[in-house]
Amino acid sequence: MASSSRSTLYENLKLVDTVAKVKTTVKELRRQKEISVDCEGNNLSREGTLDILIIGTVNRKVFLFDITKMGVSAFDAGLRDLLESGCDVMAKLMYDCRNDSDALMHLYDVKLAGVLDLQLVEIDSRRKSKQNHWFLKGLKKSIEVYDHDEKSERTKKNGTEQIEDAKRNGTTIWDKRPLSPDLKDYCAVDTVKLFSLLKVFRKKMEREKMLEASERYVDYFRSYETFPETKFYRHGFLPDEILRSNPRDPKVQYNDCQGCKKKFKRARLDLVNAGEKKRANFCSCCSRIITRIENQPIPSQSFA
Ligand SMILES: [Zn+2]
Repeated sequence: MASSSRSTLYENLKLVDTVAKVKTTVKELRRQKEISVDCEGNNLSREGTLDILIIGTVNRKVFLFDITKMGVSAFDAGLRDLLESGCDVMAKLMYDCRNDSDALMHLYDVKLAGVLDLQLVEIDSRRKSKQNHWFLKGLKKSIEVYDHDEKSERTKKNGTEQIEDAKRNGTTIWDKRPLSPDLKDYCAVDTVKLFSLLKVFRKKMEREKMLEASERYVDYFRSYETFPETKFYRHGFLPDEILRSNPRDPKVQYNDCQGCKKKFKRARLDLVNAGEKKRANFCSCCSRIITRIENQPIPSQSFA
């Protein structure tokens, strides 16, 4: 593919793979009020790796930080401060920040903040227009629905095929260097598209409410000491208490949901049959998961 044909995907793509480059790039990024952020890694989470951190700007500039090569020194050189700054300094547009945030915190001691998560904005827009809002939409699906273009879709499809081939062959893809031009494009698309999605939702969105919900979302995985059973945290449902503010009330008794292990007011937990005649307390999201498993498989969410 000639470089001119890539230009509609983004304006400019830079690989940032030395500490000196991190310093100058962070300085440049500090002038932005909003950036988009995305991470790629093999099984991105504390249990996997974080290999590429991608930052996009409103002018469609894209920066790929090579974390495989630089490791923690990239964060020590300014990236940590940038990612930990509040939304009053710089909002970070993301789409499902949970795994990214978990990996950043537990692998690199970065407490991501100032996130505006467009996955929440999208589901909240469906809630407000009285559409079905049980299931979260993956980014791929959201782009198809709200901002479809052939070229981005081809780029994503191509990258996804390479990722799935690697999985099938038991190899990894994100830690291999040099990154192929196709994978660089794959990385870039999402950060560019987040700005187009924001445009779609910006007018109707309650920004303050969404920033607060994003604070709960960014903390959702990383605050686990150990993850619960997979089906109770890796699923396509919106976890309870993310969109709703839920200040702790010292006069009320809180209990753990036996599925997701999060704390809920006792009155909000349902007693559900949990197999083998056991009945236990579950939040409404986990109750839904149990009921679904009995009746039909849960649609798995594509995060690609
Ligand atoms: Zn639960």
